[in-house]
Amino acid sequence: MILNRKYWYYRRKLLGLLGLPVYSEPLHLDIEPTIRCNLRCRICQVPKWNRTCPDLSLDSFKKILNSAPYLKSIKLQGMGEPLLNKDFFEMVKLARLRDIKVSMHTNGTLLSDLNIQNLIESQINEIAVSCDHYDPLILKNLRPGLNFESFSSGIMQLNKCASEIHVKAYSLLTLDLKENIERHLDFLLVCNFKEIVLQPDITDWGGNYPETSNSALSHEELKEIKERVKEWSEKNDGTTIVFQKSRYSQESPCPWPFHYSYITADLYVQPCSICTNPSIFNLGNLNHRNREFSGIWNRTAYFKFRDIFLNGKLPDFCRSCYAPVKGKP
Ligand code: SF4
Repeated sequence: MILNRKYWYYRRKLLGLLGLPVYSEPLHLDIEPTIRCNLRCRICQVPKWNRTCPDLSLDSFKKILNSAPYLKSIKLQGMGEPLLNKDFFEMVKLARLRDIKVSMHTNGTLLSDLNIQNLIESQINEIAVSCDHYDPLILKNLRPGLNFESFSSGIMQLNKCASEIHVKAYSLLTLDLKENIERHLDFLLVCNFKEIVLQPDITDWGGNYPETSNSALSHEELKEIKERVKEWSEKNDGTTIVFQKSRYSQESPCPWPFHYSYITADLYVQPCSICTNPSIFNLGNLNHRNREFSGIWNRTAYFKFRDIFLNGKLPDFCRSCYAPVKGKP
């Protein structure tokens, strides 16, 4: 095992405050219920994969929970649409029984009355719904397969019925919104969202799919949009607008290698929610020799991965998550 002193210092500082041992598994996991999706979104990496994998089973989900005893929160979503997993609601209920906070991200196309009722009964804590454009044609072009009428009536129904759940709109700030961000925010207001998260960075998924980030705004365009959003929110002060943090930097490094992890539907342990294709990189599999999660989290491969960060370098697939440094490629 590689003993990087900086890592232990980092862990001790956080876990010591919580009274937990330094070897503790993460307090948060992203867990992928499925890689299947009913849409073929242009900004997503899944439509470009030729990877197949069964949905996460209830037994595998229980195994993950049992092997991470300190979990405080999970995001029950990965690369596919989580509501396609038939055991999704059971998984939420199991986690909630352990008092684990559960969030999910959905493409918003499967919000039938029954699914909304099941979400409420599962006691899920937080739901983020992808809502990238108010114009049906532009949205269908961004997210092929989407039916705008049922999508918009589903999100309105969710906002009407799920008052106990923290529901927010999650919107990619693409070039398509450059001219008419105000109309988009008006649409989200009509849909009754109380919180809107705007995401300026369109990921290229670790550099593997550069074309997905083609629709990102330039620095100047983003600056102008931020001003207009500020003006809009001054007129609509019942709505919270959050700009998602853009890039990591040396001063504000990526926390994933040290605090969080991502588990695929076929139980590969991945470094984060960007690098999720195990055939490109993975840190081990929970099915291999029936491994416990702690055996992977505290394994040499994970320490080597962390060492790259701690030694001031970056793995290739992390480069596009960091703001470019002047003078460096
Ligand atoms: S910097 Fe690396 S580990 Fe962190 S989110 Fe990006 S790809 Fe993942």
